[in-house]
Parts: sequence; C-alpha cells; structure tokens
Amino acid sequence: MKTAFVTGGSRGIGKAISLKLGSSFNVAVGYASSKDLAEDTVKEITASGGNAMSVHIDVTDASLVDKAFTSIEQQYDGVDVLINNAGITKDNILPRLKDTDWDDVINTNLSGAFRSSQRSIKNMLKKKWGRIVFISSIVGITGNQGQANYAASKAGLIGLSRSISKEMGSRNITANVVAPGYIDTDMTSFLSNDEKNNIIEQLSIKRIGTPEDIANIVSFLCSDESEY
Ligand code: NDP
Repeated sequence: MKTAFVTGGSRGIGKAISLKLGSSFNVAVGYASSKDLAEDTVKEITASGGNAMSVHIDVTDASLVDKAFTSIEQQYDGVDVLINNAGITKDNILPRLKDTDWDDVINTNLSGAFRSSQRSIKNMLKKKWGRIVFISSIVGITGNQGQANYAASKAGLIGLSRSISKEMGSRNITANVVAPGYIDTDMTSFLSNDEKNNIIEQLSIKRIGTPEDIANIVSFLCSDESEY
C-alpha cells in the first residue's frame, strides 16, 4: 500500500484529507503542536480499518522536516503522496504588517511546502511514481485586503507546483494545486455570522465549504485516475 503524508493533518482541512486518504493509503498525520488531535485522527483511521501514524513536523525547520520523513520511512515504505497543507495567517494591512508577520507566513506556507516537497522527491523518483498536492487559496489568485503576506505565500505555491510538475512529469510525479475559498475551520472561526452571510451571497453554491469538500478533490488528485 502506498503512503500519504499530510502536513497539518491534526485539524481542519488536513484532518479531513487524512481521513479520506485513509481508505486508500497508509496515512502519516503531521502535527506541529496538536499531538492529541493528530492521534485522534489516527484512531479514527485505524477504527475504519486503515493504517495510520502521527508524526511531528515543523515545516519551518529543515532538520525537523527531514526527521519527520525519516520516521515515516521507518514505519512505511517511504512517502508516495505529499499533501502540503500546513498553513498559518498573520493578517494586517500593508502599513501595519511587521517583518515577522511577513517572514513567518512565507516561511511556513511557502518555504515549508518547498522543504517538504524537496524531501519527498527522493522516494518518488526511486519509485517512479508520486503525487504532490499544495493547498493554496483563492486569495493567492485574487489577493485580499489585510492578507498581502498570506496571498503572496499562496500565489508562490502555484509557481512552485507548476515548476515541479514540469521537472517531474516525465517520472510519473504530478504536482497540483487546490485553491479553496472560505472553508469552515479554526482558521475562519473568527468570522461573524454577518460576514459569513456576505460571503455566502457571493458564492454559486449557497453555503460555506467544508473540509470534506476539499478532501474529495485532493483524494482524486492523489489517485491513479489522476495520472495526466
Ligand atoms: P487550521 O488553522 O485549522 O490548521 C492549520 C494546520 O497547520 C494545523 O494542523 C497546524 O498544526 C498546521 N501547522 C501550522 N503551522 C505549522 C508548522 N510550522 N509546521 C507544521 N504544521 C503546521 O487551518 P485550515 O484547516 O483552515 O487550513 C489548512 C490549509 O488550507 C492552510 O494551508 C490554509 O492556508 C489553507 N486554506 C484554508 C482556507 C479556509 O478557509 N480555512 C481557505 C483556503 C486555504 P498544529 O495544529 O499541530 O499546530
């Protein structure tokens, strides 16, 4: 059985992706600080008959990224599917955006995905098969007030993914981006009901997206059906 590694698999979208992939892959559920939640996700997968492990990863630290992949390699036969899902926001309008707000968001969302992707490629090249999925955001395409750092990080993932797909396509390794709009998770829990209703008014389907909506498309992009 192939193995999928979901960074930020402890909560929200990453958790839904981990659960969905649990029926087809061994799943390594990555967490930075939410160990208990990651272990709950593992229990849910194993209770449904799947194989899963929790693994600590801080995508901002190359040595911890390497350590996470090494511990997955000790349990399973390397990472075949990487879901670059870990992400943070540190919102402010440009005049008030601190250097650290910029650096932290770019370092986690963009450089973190680069580190994990680079580390994952070794095994995928050896197996001549791989799937990398980046969880970007609609604001990486449209921009957003108060989110220059976040939007830049998410736009960067699109260039990173397209470049990997050009470098690796001939070796059966695909790279794809999913760019969700507002999804109901901890990250968007600060929105008031009025704000949520304003968002819903602009949507074609009149509800806020769920983590499972994203997990469904990610699951397809990781499958054999998504080879081209
Ligand atoms: P949550 O805030 O619910 O979860 C974020 C996840 O990222 C957690 O599992 C967290 O781990 C992990 N994480 C944070 N920092 C690090 C780090 N340094 N190293 C490793 N893992 C880390 O977010 P969502 O589920 O809402 O978002 C998941 C992804 O989807 C993000 O990339 C986000 O930008 C993107 N997205 C979200 C949208 C939304 O509306 N919710 C819309 C578009 C995109 P832990 O809990 O262990 O600290």
